[in-house]
Amino acid sequence: MDRASGKAKAESQGLDFDVVVVGAGFAGLATLHRLRDQMGYSVRVIEAGSAAGGTWYWNRYPGARCDVESLQYSMSISPEVDQEWNWTERFAAQPEILEYTQFLVDKMDFAKDIEFNTRVASAAFDESDNSWTVTTQGGDSLRCRWLVMAAGPLSTPNLPDFPGLDSFEGEVYHTGAWPKEEVSFKGKRVAQIGTGSSGVQIAQEIAKHATKHYVLQRTAHHIIPAANRPINPGEQEEVKKRYRELRDMWQATPGATSYQSLPSNPSIVPGDKSVLEVSPEERREIFDNAWNYGGYAFHRSFNDLLKSTEASTLANEYIAERILEIVSDPAAAEKLVPKQFYGTKRVILDTNYYSIFNQENVELIDVREDPIERITPAGIQTASGKLYEVDMIVCATGFDAMTGSLTRMDIHGRGGAVLRDVWKGGPESYLGIMVTGFPGMFIVGGPQSCSALANVIVANEQQAEWICDCIGYLDKNGYTSIEPTSKAQSDWVEHVNELADGTIYTKGPSWYSGANIEGKPRTFLLYVAGYPTYTKTCNDVAEKGYEGFELDRAKAVN
Ligand SMILES: Cc1cc2nc3c(=O)[nH]c(=O)nc-3n(C[C@H](O)[C@H](O)[C@H](O)COP(=O)(O)OP(=O)(O)OC[C@H]3O[C@@H](n4cnc5c(N)ncnc54)[C@H](O)[C@@H]3O)c2cc1C
Repeated sequence: MDRASGKAKAESQGLDFDVVVVGAGFAGLATLHRLRDQMGYSVRVIEAGSAAGGTWYWNRYPGARCDVESLQYSMSISPEVDQEWNWTERFAAQPEILEYTQFLVDKMDFAKDIEFNTRVASAAFDESDNSWTVTTQGGDSLRCRWLVMAAGPLSTPNLPDFPGLDSFEGEVYHTGAWPKEEVSFKGKRVAQIGTGSSGVQIAQEIAKHATKHYVLQRTAHHIIPAANRPINPGEQEEVKKRYRELRDMWQATPGATSYQSLPSNPSIVPGDKSVLEVSPEERREIFDNAWNYGGYAFHRSFNDLLKSTEASTLANEYIAERILEIVSDPAAAEKLVPKQFYGTKRVILDTNYYSIFNQENVELIDVREDPIERITPAGIQTASGKLYEVDMIVCATGFDAMTGSLTRMDIHGRGGAVLRDVWKGGPESYLGIMVTGFPGMFIVGGPQSCSALANVIVANEQQAEWICDCIGYLDKNGYTSIEPTSKAQSDWVEHVNELADGTIYTKGPSWYSGANIEGKPRTFLLYVAGYPTYTKTCNDVAEKGYEGFELDRAKAVN
């Protein structure tokens, strides 16, 4: 089907487009590329922001950067862009990633098929002809056969409902919706709420400039050094020469990313040994090497840090020692030592985080000991009655992960069922890609996919490709609808939970299970068996004629 006939097909069926895609982050771009450029479909991408980039468009806070190495955190869809784009740092900062995205958008001529500054408010399935009607907040509607939700696993900021927040007389920001205009911390008293990934990154910037910087911590996270640096001379050139081969190699790992971009670099850690089988001296040496090398070398240093509580405890002990060495105030250091098992919450990369607590302008406040009671016009008041007077509050309070961007829309499936209600007891999907009762609606990076536990760009590309190939198969065979059977969906959810139960991930609360959002039902949201196994499972399903799905050609048109 060429591009023109793709459009003709939609028109001949009384539809506006073959496919509507919600979101122009990497997932939306991967979907647009495959459908439009490689398969000839008519596609409209709808994006709330004024440019593409998703995460990197919204998270403009100072200090934001990736934690997968830049050379690996990139799209594979254009060999020309692979050659023409140059990364400057081992872990790129947000402005550079956003520039890269714009470079890609221009090169691939994506913008003409994206409607920017437009938020989708609702989508409704029409059983009479198996079509979807997508309606924007402005009231415009588009009809399409297939709907792809690429609305982002971490794109709905979570702003806790602090009493009195509206009364605060200073500035308030959320890291996940940072303004385009420069925000200055200089000469200000700043309170930062939250010490997850974004909190750790922005803290290092606030501490440089604020006269007083209160860091309000609920949980001490595991924070390991990024050892960020300029990309070594020769390293980028070698990766460019071997990009295809290296991408295949990275994708063969559970997280679709290696802690070293080049296999020719000497191995820093054994990776395949149990931490329990080595002597204390060898363990210390391996942990030291990994710690100093930076990035996720520490995470990959042994094969069981994420599997057994004994192994995880040894990692905890090592990290505690390092914190106590860096932070001179023993009381602050003790508060910074993580109490949960290593790996139950997302492990964070930093540059300088622990040492900011040696600065006189920085004060750590443990809000488990003394919780936030209310926000007053002057600042933050805690349960003990203490008032922290500030000029600015920075909420680094994370996201309604994996489901927030979907449940925020009114998505009506078969019989008018609303996705938000269907997921009230916890989200359920098949492969993280489709939901029973919502025929023809695909999700990239949905709950129970491996998305957020892998290099997300790679996971996005794999799921987008699978979805687009599925659409191609359905069209070729005259089907106008597809949805998972209830059994396939419940078996998948059970399988995902069983896999998670065998790991460290379920040994404590985290956003992986929705525990960061008050009232959100606790279900494990991620597939933990790794990217290669996930990909193989999806491919097997397709090869078996979309096993577990019901395909419908009853209402086929033309
Ligand atoms: C600070 C931060 C750092 C990260 N670092 C890494 C990293 O180093 N490595 C990694 O693998 N992952 C990282 N991630 C995860 C990151 O989200 C993914 O890597 C990736 O960018 C997700 O792409 P996406 O297209 O799936 O979603 P997003 O980039 O979130 O894009 C979704 C888009 O959908 C749009 N949208 C949502 N709802 C609607 C609607 N109703 N109407 C219209 N548009 C809508 C949003 O505006 C957004 O632009 C990070 C996340 C954050 C927040």
